[in-house]
Amino acid sequence: MPSDPDLIDELLDVCHRLHRLGMVAANDGNVSALTNDGNLLTSVTNISKGVMTARHVVKMDLQGRPLEDGKKPSSELPMHLAIYRDRPDVRAVVHAHPPYATGFAAAGLALDKCVLPEIVMTLGSIPLAEYGTPSTEEVPEAVSRWIGQADAVLLSNHGAVTVGASLEEAFYKMERIEHYAKICYFARQLGGERVLTPTEVQKLYELRDAYAMSNRNPGCWSCDQLIGGSCLGETCVNFTGAGETFEQAARRIIQRVLRG
Ligand SMILES: [Zn+2]
Repeated sequence: MPSDPDLIDELLDVCHRLHRLGMVAANDGNVSALTNDGNLLTSVTNISKGVMTARHVVKMDLQGRPLEDGKKPSSELPMHLAIYRDRPDVRAVVHAHPPYATGFAAAGLALDKCVLPEIVMTLGSIPLAEYGTPSTEEVPEAVSRWIGQADAVLLSNHGAVTVGASLEEAFYKMERIEHYAKICYFARQLGGERVLTPTEVQKLYELRDAYAMSNRNPGCWSCDQLIGGSCLGETCVNFTGAGETFEQAARRIIQRVLRG
């Protein structure tokens, strides 16, 4: 795992790329990564990600206390802390406002259909978390409802958040959902996405399992919500996720429905 100076370089690189790709404007967005000594490095508040240097990175403990004098983290840090608490496998979090993905989030639309093979295989469905007032506990609470099952979450009327085992991985997921949202947007101008058939999706799941890819968010989100219902006959794929028994899947879905 990278040392602090290397991690700072990576974090700056990700911030610069987010800005270069138009995924953040002005002082938007925030990025964090866990350090080897069990703390985290994150972007300071009120800074454009395009001009960040090492002095715009602050080290914090996992209770959200700064370990350096005179530097203040982003007001969205509680969302990052909640994600690290919820997901011990996660070592980096990227939050941005990429325009196409945020457009979907502002329109109240999740990216939860099986459309592109690479998305089905890498991210599965991308859920939409409920709206939360920025910099309040509402945002981490809304994200916590989904992050256990998803590596990428849209935030209603706000933006998107992605996680990974490294900064690069979390960044690529952000780049991936923005690209996907853009493609879905264009497809809708042309009459709408053709949703993959259950057989097509099943084959992708088999490939994904063969390559031992992540199966954190298996199955079709819309299908899950219908608890094994007919799912309109178009997107319904697996009631159970990879490696899951029917009972485990039922318990997972009922818990999700109870959480509202
Ligand atoms: Zn934001």
